[in-house]
Amino acid sequence: MGASNLQLILDEIVEEMRHVTERGDVADYIPPLACISPQKFGIAVATIDGACHIAGDACEPFSIQSVSKVFSLTAALDAVGEDLWDRIGVEPSGSPFNSIVQLESEAGIPRNPFINAGAIVVADVLLGGRHPDAAMGALLKFVQSLADDDTIYVDHAVAAAEKETGWRNAALANYMRDFGNIMHDPADTLSLYFQQCSLALSCEQLAKAGRFLITDGVDPQTGYRVVTPGRARRINALMLTCGHYDGSGEFAFRVGLPGKSGVGGGILAIAPGIASIAVWSPGLNTRGNSKLGTYALDRLTSRVDWSIFEPPI
Ligand code: GLU
Repeated sequence: MGASNLQLILDEIVEEMRHVTERGDVADYIPPLACISPQKFGIAVATIDGACHIAGDACEPFSIQSVSKVFSLTAALDAVGEDLWDRIGVEPSGSPFNSIVQLESEAGIPRNPFINAGAIVVADVLLGGRHPDAAMGALLKFVQSLADDDTIYVDHAVAAAEKETGWRNAALANYMRDFGNIMHDPADTLSLYFQQCSLALSCEQLAKAGRFLITDGVDPQTGYRVVTPGRARRINALMLTCGHYDGSGEFAFRVGLPGKSGVGGGILAIAPGIASIAVWSPGLNTRGNSKLGTYALDRLTSRVDWSIFEPPI
């Protein structure tokens, strides 16, 4: 795929998305997200050769929300290794992102690290006895280094709003604490979780931060090994099977790539060996995943023929 062709395709996708009227509903349970215009649309593709193609609102930071779970999982695996899987499963939940129902029958072990309960356990691991702000400082630095951009920041207004309204997340944390699967004061664990969800990145920054997952765990820009090849493959496997909650099957079916969504309307998708793609459109479908983001990734992967199910040439 030539660079000019790819840019042309992205520009055409932006133009096509501009005319879509059914754009889904912006998440309003986190008040600052309710104010974001559903007209926004951005896309960025960071390719293995170091180029980054952008189109639409690709330079505007947005709340990455659950897309942050890819980075917190990566950092937690670095911190505690495979022991992480004693506290979290690796199965799709088939349930909404914030569901509590399976926790009772499954003894407080969340199905996977991408549903809220699983990501709260990951935050508990990352806390490691520190103050939540110190743990967040380390995670922020990690994301900045992946994107090679120290302007990436935590939107503290979003984090404060999540803290004020996140009763269901508080229920999940407290319930898991009762099962012994949260080791800290749930308020501290939640403080880190809310801050990580409030990371603000543009599509360009997000696509760049995902590059290590294109190349079996090595940052293609710097040659720095972020995770082992096995871990990079497993993170991609979890993105494919669990990255869109109870819409994960549909995303795999339509887009054919590992992807992780967030209620801010962002999606990070990985074409292994080829590119890291970030898309942002704030309107969500009924399963809490970006409506146009999914549609745009479907359009892109169909046009450029990227799929993990594509046989090697
Ligand atoms: N901060 C959000 C919540 O916990 C994340 C959910 C998401 O992006 O899917 O409700």
